[in-house]
Amino acid sequence: STPLLRATGLTKHFPTPGGMVRAVEDVGFELNAGETLALVGESGSGKSTIGRLILRLIEPTAGRVEIDGQDLGALGPRALRALRRQMQIIFQDPYGSLNPRMTVGAMLAEPLRLHRLATGKAVEPAVADLLRLVGLLPEQARRYPHEFSGGQRQRVGIARALAVEPRLIVCDEAVSALDVSIQAQIVNLLADLRKARGLSYLFISHDLAVVRHIADRVAVLYLGRIVELAPAAQLFAAPRHPYTRALLSAIPAADPQARRDRALLAGEPPSPINRPTGCAFHPRCPYAVERCRTETPALTSSSTAGTGHGTACHLWPELPPAPPAPAEPET
Ligand code: SF4
Ligand code: MG
Repeated sequence: STPLLRATGLTKHFPTPGGMVRAVEDVGFELNAGETLALVGESGSGKSTIGRLILRLIEPTAGRVEIDGQDLGALGPRALRALRRQMQIIFQDPYGSLNPRMTVGAMLAEPLRLHRLATGKAVEPAVADLLRLVGLLPEQARRYPHEFSGGQRQRVGIARALAVEPRLIVCDEAVSALDVSIQAQIVNLLADLRKARGLSYLFISHDLAVVRHIADRVAVLYLGRIVELAPAAQLFAAPRHPYTRALLSAIPAADPQARRDRALLAGEPPSPINRPTGCAFHPRCPYAVERCRTETPALTSSSTAGTGHGTACHLWPELPPAPPAPAEPET
C-alpha cells in the first residue's frame, strides 16, 4: 500500500558566503499512517531542514516528497495549500509562535473559523474540546500565554496544531526545552493523541533517550545523510553504525565500553560546509580504513520502510558487536 509520506533522494544545498552548505544529501524514507519515525542527530545533521522540506516550507535542491503518492513538487499552489492543512508542525518554543496579546481561546478559535471547522455558537465548545484533549481546562481559554507554564504552553501549541485535524505532525525538538519530568508528560500526551486520532509523527530530536519512548522507527542522521534506519527496538538493542553506538553511549551508563565510545563525540561535530569526503564520519570513527576516506557508503537497501534495518558503513557487518544500550530508565 502507498505510505502516507515518502521522501526520495531528498537533497538541500544552501549557498552561503562561507561556501555551499550541504544540509541534506540523498535522504529517503517512508512513513505509514499511524506511525512515528524519529529523525535523530546532532546540530547540523539536517534534521530540521528535512522537516521543512517535508512541509514544503522550503524547496528541495533535488529529490521528491510524496503524500499519499502525490508529488508535492508537482502540485499547484491551491492543491498544496489544501494538502498543507493535513501537515502541521510543533516547535521547540511555542512561546515564540503564540501571540502574547491573544487569549488561548482566541488563538484556537482562529484556525477553526478559518477552515470552517466550527462557526458561530459551535466555536466555544470546539475550543473547550481541544483544551480537554491536551489535558487543559475549558476555563483556561480566557488566559494569555504568559499565564501558562512551559509544559502548558506546549500543550496549547499541540492543541493549535490539532485544531485543523492534521494527519501528519512534524515535532521539531518539541520537548527539548522542557524539564525531564515535563518532557515525559508531553511525550505521553503525544503518544495518546496518536492513538486516539490516528496521527503520524515525524519526531525530530537530538536526544535518542527521548525518542525511545515514542518512535516506531528511528533514522540516525550524520551531516545530512541517514547512517542508520531501523525499528526502534532493534536500534536500541543492536545498534550497528559506529556513530549510532557513540550516540547511544552518551546516554548515561556505567559500562566501560560505552564510556570509551562516548569519547568519540567529544568536540564540535564537523560543519556541513566542509563535509569530509567519503564516509563523513571517518575523522571520528575508530574503525575507519582507507576506503572510508574516498567512498561514500550507501544505506543498505530495502531499509526505508517496515522492519528493514539499514546501515551506511563499509565495514558493517565485520565490526565488533556493540555493547547493548543502557537499560531503559524508570519513568
Ligand atoms: Fe567508520 Fe568507515 Fe563505517 Fe564510516 S564507513 S562508519 S568511517 S568504518
Ligand atoms: Mg534544529
